[in-house]
Amino acid sequence: MKTTFKRYLNLLLDFVYPRVCVSCEKNLLGPENHLCIECLFSIPKTNSHLHPIELLERKFWGKLNVKQVYSFLKFSKKGKVQNILHALKYKNKPELAEYIGKMYANDLNSVDFAEKIDLIVGIPLHTDKQKLRGYNQADAFAKGLSEVLKTPYDDTSMIRQTFTISQTKTGSRFKRFKNIEGVFVVEKPDNIKGKRIALVDDVLTTGSTLEEAGNALLGAGCVELYIITIASAY
Ligand SMILES: [Zn+2]
Repeated sequence: MKTTFKRYLNLLLDFVYPRVCVSCEKNLLGPENHLCIECLFSIPKTNSHLHPIELLERKFWGKLNVKQVYSFLKFSKKGKVQNILHALKYKNKPELAEYIGKMYANDLNSVDFAEKIDLIVGIPLHTDKQKLRGYNQADAFAKGLSEVLKTPYDDTSMIRQTFTISQTKTGSRFKRFKNIEGVFVVEKPDNIKGKRIALVDDVLTTGSTLEEAGNALLGAGCVELYIITIASAY
């Protein structure tokens, strides 16, 4: 297809099916993708790939043996980043997560990050949740990173299980059930053993999920662990 025609067609499509910026909801124009140019240049980046951020690192001190924590964007309530995370979570946008992964990988390439790792692993969702949401945004983010960093990603070796345990209170005839989420199991340790791994997730808040999954990977023989998230609160 001739490029001028393609451009015309895209403009026509933008008119018929307006695309909006996931952050500010303004209509996107021609070459803009997911984010408008203004948002693209004003989203708050952490730049943790240039200078490690102690407030991020210390979330794991004494809990997880992690080499470094990288986070693309700085999360604040009601900010641009919150809208992006909301779109990822509730609007079924795997292509957005992938796009962000590619964007961040360009930053990470500037510090030759790819030389430090052999494999990228996304935090798995419980299968029921994944069915409900349609996709796992951590895996989509991992895929985008993988493409630009030219490092493989693995979305099958580690799984997440939910156990239901029953508790019986003394003196009560009612049984209570409690779901315990976030039990990570490495089903294929051969794929993990001896590898330097970047464990990735959408958002880093307390770090407890990453801590559990990270320890599962280390337990399976991962030799060096890095953490990468789309956003973090600190
Ligand atoms: Zn915007």
